[in-house]
Amino acid sequence: MVASSPRPVSVIRLDGGRLSIDFANTIHDRFAADVEDYIATPERYVEWARRSGAIATDEMIDMSRLEGEGERLMADVRSLRDATYLLLSACIDGVALPQGPLLVENHWLLRAWQSQSLSENGLLTLRADPEDLRIPLKRIALDVVDTLVDARAGKFKLKRCANQSSCGWIFADTSKNGRRRWCAMQTCGTASKTATRRNRG
Ligand SMILES: [Zn+2]
Repeated sequence: MVASSPRPVSVIRLDGGRLSIDFANTIHDRFAADVEDYIATPERYVEWARRSGAIATDEMIDMSRLEGEGERLMADVRSLRDATYLLLSACIDGVALPQGPLLVENHWLLRAWQSQSLSENGLLTLRADPEDLRIPLKRIALDVVDTLVDARAGKFKLKRCANQSSCGWIFADTSKNGRRRWCAMQTCGTASKTATRRNRG
């Protein structure tokens, strides 16, 4: 069920370990009949982007731009989020990246690259433009590439939460032994152990 009053953005967990993974995880339980979308409105999307670092602390966002732009913006958000989830999933499953999601991802990569420039410190950075409500999507698209590259390089194991019945989140397992099973022990880990105990009971 979708809660009548949505949970505050400030309590949404960021357990994925990477920006793009946390973005894919902005759906509470992907397999629920009635999904809870954490960022279902433009305002919540901007608030989440600020919290997750997709908008830097010193970056201004002109919220008045949301007027008349909100619906198209949210369509872009949902489209990139689905693509991100499917690309990360393909990486977990060790299969070729699917064409549809690749088209979406490549579209945002191109836009991200167009917004980048070399700055005085010698680093390639995304130009902050207060009127650009899609800066977070560009950062996320760039992070998808980094995440896929790092996962392939073995810097971490990309995994699905073992709580497949009511989670569906993805996370980067950076643990030494690579045996992390849940997106978070205190939520899915505990719930799973309680269920196991009950079944044994
Ligand atoms: Zn989980």
